Amino acid sequence: MVRYINAHCHIDGCRNFVFGTDGIVGAVCNSTQMSNWDAVVKFAAEKPAVRACIGIHPWYVNTATAGWDAQMNKMLRENPALMVGEIGIDKTHPDFSRQLEIFTRQMEIAAENNRVAHIHCVGAWDILQNVFAEMGTHMPRVVMHAFVATPEIVRAIARKYDAYFSFSDAVMDSRRTRLHRAVATVGVGRILIETDDAQMEILPKISECVANIRRTPHDEMARILYENTMCMLGK
Ligand SMILES: [Zn+2]
Repeated sequence: MVRYINAHCHIDGCRNFVFGTDGIVGAVCNSTQMSNWDAVVKFAAEKPAVRACIGIHPWYVNTATAGWDAQMNKMLRENPALMVGEIGIDKTHPDFSRQLEIFTRQMEIAAENNRVAHIHCVGAWDILQNVFAEMGTHMPRVVMHAFVATPEIVRAIARKYDAYFSFSDAVMDSRRTRLHRAVATVGVGRILIETDDAQMEILPKISECVANIRRTPHDEMARILYENTMCMLGK
């Protein structure tokens, strides 16, 4: 029986999903701002198939109120299974300096609490790698979510850090040849798949595409993706 775990989604996409359907047995559920941290933690507490992340997404940095970082620290300490996400930097959205400040602080919090950080990066790969470099040996494990950057960036990050690369439905577009090269470049133990904001049900299709790109039989690829996700989660 083929099993899948969705390495990155949001509560709206999996709230009504019946885990077990189509072999989809688990999901990592990210939040985007303080106002949904409690909901995602509660959701994961009710559903053993779900692992929760709390974070401030770069699009919502202006919703962060004073003391957000103390609150994040407290929730992580109270809940050892909780991870940090979705966090990151996005050049296509405003307040970049505030984004960078909040992202860097969240990376430190992830590191201090020894949690995985689930990262969104758009148009700011050099700056992201500078943040990583400055963290040095304190870098937490990271998941580069909905990865669409170049094979060179895969290599640069994979060489230095405990990093996973998670691919979304973008891989289903046959015209995205550069992305397909990136999929083929990731080390076999470091690939994940996700639906992000799309329907949970497309996860097996994404798995099939990744298998085709990597010229691996689908059953074998699905098993690898499942095991990679379990390893990323520390299981
Ligand atoms: Zn997301």
